[in-house]
Amino acid sequence: MAEPREVVVIGAGLVGLACAMTLQASGHTVTVLDPEGPGEGATMGNPGGLSVSSIFPTAVPGIHRKVPGWLLDPLGPLSIRWRHLPALAPWLWHFLRAATPAQVERAMRALHALTAPALEAYAPLLARAGAEDLVRHDGHLMVYRSAEAMRAEAGAWRRRAELGIAVTELSGGAVQEMEPALDPAYGYARLVPGNGHCTDPRGLARRFAEAIARDGGTLRLLPATGFVLADGRVRAVRTPEGDLPADAVVLAAGAASAPLAALLGDRVPLEAERGYHAEIPDSPVQLRRPVFATGEKIFAAAMRSGLRFAGTAEFARPGTPPDWRRAEGLLRLGRGLFPALREPSGKTTRWMGMRPSTPDSLPAIGQASGAANAFHAFGHGHIGVTGAAMTGRIIDALVAGRTPPVPLEPYRPSRFAEPGCAASSQAA
Ligand SMILES: Cc1cc2nc3c(=O)[nH]c(=O)nc-3n(C[C@H](O)[C@H](O)[C@H](O)COP(=O)(O)OP(=O)(O)OC[C@H]3O[C@@H](n4cnc5c(N)ncnc54)[C@H](O)[C@@H]3O)c2cc1C
Repeated sequence: MAEPREVVVIGAGLVGLACAMTLQASGHTVTVLDPEGPGEGATMGNPGGLSVSSIFPTAVPGIHRKVPGWLLDPLGPLSIRWRHLPALAPWLWHFLRAATPAQVERAMRALHALTAPALEAYAPLLARAGAEDLVRHDGHLMVYRSAEAMRAEAGAWRRRAELGIAVTELSGGAVQEMEPALDPAYGYARLVPGNGHCTDPRGLARRFAEAIARDGGTLRLLPATGFVLADGRVRAVRTPEGDLPADAVVLAAGAASAPLAALLGDRVPLEAERGYHAEIPDSPVQLRRPVFATGEKIFAAAMRSGLRFAGTAEFARPGTPPDWRRAEGLLRLGRGLFPALREPSGKTTRWMGMRPSTPDSLPAIGQASGAANAFHAFGHGHIGVTGAAMTGRIIDALVAGRTPPVPLEPYRPSRFAEPGCAASSQAA
């Protein structure tokens, strides 16, 4: 066990809390800072997919040909508020640069390293927090309207299978048998039995926070506003209520991490990639497992609070009000998936959250360039719930000075500032 230390974790989303719990289990004293409380950020309203098959980055060769069509479709999976374009330009530049076969292969291997052990990495945390009831192991069903649509993704699924991700192809009645509520128009599917599902990500964050407090940790409803640095180390974390001394610091503030990372010497292009959900609390449809409609790019999952439809990516200036038409669009697409929902009835709820997204879809995990005892753990984009527990293991190893359980080179926080890469204006 490492020498026990006072560790300050910035951010009480699932990533920060998983880091804090893992550090605590290693004997460290943890203080978690978050002005909003546990699980109120992107963690709150996502559909909880624990997805070992989410290994492809968003930037893939040919994506630039698909983007214009998506942007023109008001219900499409992507939207860019045009006034945000100048600020988004450096991020987009890195994004297009990442869309090469070599970069995709590199990102895929790195995402696989983080996601493949996800369920196993969660197990001790769930046991300690008494939260096993919030995670299910029933797989995911990827559904298609035609054999042609299914075939179009065959290469990507072959690659997943080569990496050991089990998948079964289904058609006709077998799809219906899996999910009787699904419209029979979806006659083709891939079942990924190794994927799991958290039925309440915010509830899970709250249980993690309770476990941390029970075991002697502290959660403070305060933002980190800066750092006291001396001799290449963080001595204290600045807050509106004074400086908190720290032997080590973990930065896990989700989409808000970039300005703090810059103070620690790393300019990371990080966008708040906004996603939405619409939820039917008293749904007549009871799903057996999450369903992803690949054409519509919508994820449907039975949550503790109702049937949740989640998806879409929207880039907008910070502070721009949510565009609730996107949540309405998800609801409309969701009703199309399940005939029993075609007659709108009862109440629905909606939510917008900000994925912390980097251009190459890889998180920034590693030692800060400007402080030997500060560690980044942010930028998990679409896989933050899935990757949280494994990130906790990595950070625990880094704080202890041990070799981390996976090679960290692809997640280097400094990778965007290296020769040939333009620095981002986002991290100012
Ligand atoms: C529509 C949608 C669907 C998604 N689906 C999935 C899915 O199925 N599976 C999956 O794995 N992921 C999914 N994601 C992604 C996932 O939600 C995120 O990757 C994950 O929640 C990120 O966790 P986090 O802890 O890094 O950030 P957050 O949950 O955003 O937590 C960051 C915390 O930091 C706090 N904070 C901010 N600034 C400061 C500061 N200065 N000081 C202290 N604290 C601060 C915030 O208040 C917040 O609580 C989805 C996201 C969206 C939007």
